[in-house]
Amino acid sequence: MENQFECPECGTVFEEGQTECLECGYKIRNYKLIAVLGYIFSFLFPIVGIFIGFYLHGKQQKNGKYVVVLSLVMLLIILLVPWASDINLNYYYSYN
Ligand SMILES: [Zn+2]
Repeated sequence: MENQFECPECGTVFEEGQTECLECGYKIRNYKLIAVLGYIFSFLFPIVGIFIGFYLHGKQQKNGKYVVVLSLVMLLIILLVPWASDINLNYYYSYN
């Protein structure tokens, strides 16, 4: 069942949309919303995305791993693009 998941505290199966475990009172956070935020941040502010990703990963959310990986890729792109354009510039000047 895709729309069911287990309480991380007591293992009771929830229906999606429940906000609290009926057995132990564990509050279910809206991890899907946090995951969406994580994906958005991974594009805009990858460093924030990494933190959100680790947070989700710590909560056993599989999206956490993807958010971390995506954030790292975006961070690499942000760091490498100016570096790569510098090389092109040096290449250009060395021939002119
Ligand atoms: Zn529970």
